[in-house]
Amino acid sequence: MSQNIQFINGKLQVPDQPTIPFIEGDGIGKDITEPSQRVINAAVKKAYGTEKKLVWKEVLAGKKAFVQTGNYLPDETIQAFQKYLVGIKGPLETPVGDGIRSLNVALRQTLDLFVCLRPIRWFKGVPSPIRYPELVDMHIFRENTEDIYAGIEFMTGTEKAIRFRDFLIDEMGVDVIRFPESSSFGVKPVSKEGSERLIRAAIKYAIERSMPSVTLVHKGNIMKYTEGAFKNWGYTLAETEFTHQTFTWKKFREIELEKGVEEAKTALTKAKTMGKVIVKDVITDAFLQESLLHPFDHTVIATMNLNGDYISDQLAAMVGGIGISPGANINYNSGYAIFEATHGTAPNIAGTGKANPGSLILSGAMLLEYLGWPEAAEHIYDAMEHTFSKRKVTSDLFSMMEGATLLSTTEFADEIIRNIH
Ligand code: NAD
Repeated sequence: MSQNIQFINGKLQVPDQPTIPFIEGDGIGKDITEPSQRVINAAVKKAYGTEKKLVWKEVLAGKKAFVQTGNYLPDETIQAFQKYLVGIKGPLETPVGDGIRSLNVALRQTLDLFVCLRPIRWFKGVPSPIRYPELVDMHIFRENTEDIYAGIEFMTGTEKAIRFRDFLIDEMGVDVIRFPESSSFGVKPVSKEGSERLIRAAIKYAIERSMPSVTLVHKGNIMKYTEGAFKNWGYTLAETEFTHQTFTWKKFREIELEKGVEEAKTALTKAKTMGKVIVKDVITDAFLQESLLHPFDHTVIATMNLNGDYISDQLAAMVGGIGISPGANINYNSGYAIFEATHGTAPNIAGTGKANPGSLILSGAMLLEYLGWPEAAEHIYDAMEHTFSKRKVTSDLFSMMEGATLLSTTEFADEIIRNIH
């Protein structure tokens, strides 16, 4: 009998047959959802027999919701995610028109899903533009609720833009706006609370999985009080809340200044030997280069919204692209989590059988790990790797692989299921 997941004393309590709400999604959402669920079901069955199973419950959003209810994001859908805590979704088209928000953003904001988690790993056989893709194991924690994404923008020439400009010039003494008459404006709110909860989740994730480091990626050399503050708050948080489990580059620099570089290096080596998580920071542009040249230097990456957006796509491209890149939006304080295909609705291939269901399937594997069912997730990872290593792929990867066999969306899912068995 299906039951609800609960969040008690900071921990998920997962029954053997949890109800999992899902949004099919627009465009290729219809193509990838059912095959993905079959793969996930097969993995759960292989791991736990009849003892455990997911009970899927469809909830509406996007075009399907609009056609059936006249609303792109019905209240019942939000209420279902609140009731059942953990769900999964296909891609949703952003409705065109003034005053209609992105449905993805609306879901993230309403449920305050402050972490966008994107694990980046390579599967043997998948074409990669980098030399050692097998060394890539990165986990991006992108802040999901703040930054320039808050949407505080004023279009040049509007009354609000003029008032905002005059306020900056007349009351704040700003004299560096190069073309004040024709400027639009955007505001970038970055808070201590928002930064700390994201960085706290990233450090905990690294500690729980015995991962070697957390990299704070920021552009604090230019934006000192937003991105620079993010870095500083991060270091302070690591040193105060995780004193015994972390060693920071800030500490390294302090020792270096006080006692010299050799002492600092010794302290760093000792911390590594003790299994402490090394908390470091890298400027965003340098990180984009470093992650290509030395991906093995970074494991967990904590960053703000806009940086996280760019970084996620670059790192995804390093291991096979958005077709096989999973993701999740999570609030670690309430337990709410929505796992999702990270690509869009791909209208150019919808209904053709060309869509790669990999992103949604791997998001399902992340969901299983989040529920505390890692055995089932492992079956998915193993079977996926086996399928790629036999060069059986969908059209997005087919053109990049010599001697590959082209499979449709459904055939690819069936092949994974065969490999699970
Ligand atoms: P897109 O991801 O839909 O497509 C970009 C390219 O990647 C296309 O060539 C597409 O065919 C290909 N592609 C994407 N997913 C694929 C898959 N699983 N298998 C094979 N090929 C795949 O991005 P877009 O065209 O910029 O956006 C289309 C719509 O999707 C827009 O309305 C956008 O707002 C929405 N969108 C939604 C999400 C989401 O729901 N999380 C994310 C991004 C974009």
